Amino acid sequence: MTSYEVVPFRWPLDATVRVPGSKSYTNRYLVIAALAPGRSTLEGVLFSDDTEAMIDCVRALGVAVRVDRAARVVELDGCDGQFRRDATLNVRQSGTTARFITPLVAVGPGRYTIDGDPQMRARPMGDLIDALGQLGARVEGGSLPLVVHGGVRRAGRVVRLPGNVSSQFLSGLLLSAPAFSGGMEIELTTDLVSSSYVDLTIHAMAAAGVVVERKGRFFSVAQQSYTPGTFAIEPDASAASYLFAAAAVVGGRVRVEGLGRHSKQGDVAFVERLAAMGCEVRGHKDDDAIEVYRDPEVALRGIETNMGDCSDVAPTLACVAPFAMTPTRVTGIGFSRQKETDRVANVVTELRRCGVKAIEEADGYIVHPGKPESATVETYRDHRMAMAFAVLGIGSEGIRIADPRCVAKTFPDFWETLESLRSLRAIAIDGVLGSGKTTVARALAARTGLAYLDTGAMYRCVGLAWLRGGGFLENSGRFASGLRFDISDRVMLEGEDVTELIRTPDVSRAASQVATVASVREALVAQQRAWAKRRGGGVLEGRDIATVVLPSAPVKVFLTASAGERARRRHSEAPGQSLDAVTADLVWRDHNDSNREVDPLQVAVGAVVIDTTGITVDDVVARIVSLVPWENR
Ligand code: C5P
Repeated sequence: MTSYEVVPFRWPLDATVRVPGSKSYTNRYLVIAALAPGRSTLEGVLFSDDTEAMIDCVRALGVAVRVDRAARVVELDGCDGQFRRDATLNVRQSGTTARFITPLVAVGPGRYTIDGDPQMRARPMGDLIDALGQLGARVEGGSLPLVVHGGVRRAGRVVRLPGNVSSQFLSGLLLSAPAFSGGMEIELTTDLVSSSYVDLTIHAMAAAGVVVERKGRFFSVAQQSYTPGTFAIEPDASAASYLFAAAAVVGGRVRVEGLGRHSKQGDVAFVERLAAMGCEVRGHKDDDAIEVYRDPEVALRGIETNMGDCSDVAPTLACVAPFAMTPTRVTGIGFSRQKETDRVANVVTELRRCGVKAIEEADGYIVHPGKPESATVETYRDHRMAMAFAVLGIGSEGIRIADPRCVAKTFPDFWETLESLRSLRAIAIDGVLGSGKTTVARALAARTGLAYLDTGAMYRCVGLAWLRGGGFLENSGRFASGLRFDISDRVMLEGEDVTELIRTPDVSRAASQVATVASVREALVAQQRAWAKRRGGGVLEGRDIATVVLPSAPVKVFLTASAGERARRRHSEAPGQSLDAVTADLVWRDHNDSNREVDPLQVAVGAVVIDTTGITVDDVVARIVSLVPWENR
């Protein structure tokens, strides 16, 4: 897939969402557990490109790692710094892996080659290499690829390190510091960027029993071993920013469990920015959950904010900003020009591509209010660009994201998670033949103002196309995938009005037959879902709506009626046939629908069964309307 179209969210959100584990904690605990003498268990682990890179590196150093992806658990047998001699380590695109592994191998006994993707080769490593030189390590190369000669056992002098390029240099040195003989003392020669990440490093080290003494720019760690154990990893605050931002843009609420406002992850501060823009942030200081709510009636306002301490979520804020009433100015993020990409210039370029007025400044940008226009957003192989601009897309029409798979760096199922937030105002109606589905669904659509889709007409169109085109039933899928339908009052198939034609007995039978073919169902279900997504819901009627097409529909109904009543109804619609013939056809098609292997007709979990025998259409409609949970029904 070269680009992904983000279909806007139509209704306010009401969602509790699961966010993957913190990348920062996962990669820190992997290093700590590798160094610790003995077995550690990591819970709530993030599995993504960046952490898989770290897992592979640690394995290549000879540490036994067992992975249970479904349970989100990793178990490691740490080796107390006794790494394999000589290894080649691929850090891929991962900045933390590059910066944490380089000092780590300096305590190993051999010679280690470290390399990564072209993007990572271009990112700075110089200050870290210089620091290792001060510790007596020999490092060949000034950026990736590097060769590190291990065996450094003599530390004990103060390492001087600038803090204004990347805090990962300091974090990397601190993580390995207890394994250096004599420990390590580090003095920063400048102020520190992203200092919250260093707090997080210190917090993770403390969880494994190692204390970092800190006085201003001076850090000191004594030589010691980490204590192996079980480390629980909280959800990733940077990943959560996109989901909180969705509530800000669309209105309504999004809740993330397991992440509190007290978290050491600097990016939780994103929600304070949303609060300043007019959102309500629910979650007390000691709660283990955060909920962001925006009253759909209350507009966002722009803010001026320094995001030097949470620069990874600055692109997220930049994509919320166009929806505010006044401009937003972000400062303090000049150093994020050296992240996966230049995150200052590229954010501005892409906002402009979407027709939003944005002005680049040396250390940030100004984003003006505006209605984004259709565009395909370039993502520069940067996961955060893709996820931030997805937020822009849920608030406006026609935003496509190029290279959507780049999210795998930190949030492999981002697109599915984002989709799970979407509120659909959907009424799913399934039922047997002649139970009154069509009449009820049409009346409901008129009553609720929702669009109506007769999915049976789609199967009938495929049936007709198959009858005309011929061939084996098994191959009828090819008729389903390419068809252009327009199913409203009249049924148009490839521009031809087939409204009456698809109601003939032959086509009815053919529809039931093609409906047993998996590839036909797959193609039509995809079209039905896309139809509902586009409209923010609708009244959909068929045989598998609540079971397969939209199992998350807020209203699910299953209609039945006595056999005699159903045959009489059908007969009155097709007076040319005898009642016996109509009954026989009904029995045959019912049997076919309920007994086919793929998606047989059945009552969905949570569906309300209504027997329409002897009840008026108005009464059935009133009953269903009473189930509708949204307002203005
Ligand atoms: O509802 P209608 O009678 O027009 O549907 C025609 C046929 O299409 C049904 O008998 C059934 O076999 C199939 N169908 C289906 N799933 C749907 C809708 C219809 O299998 N959602």
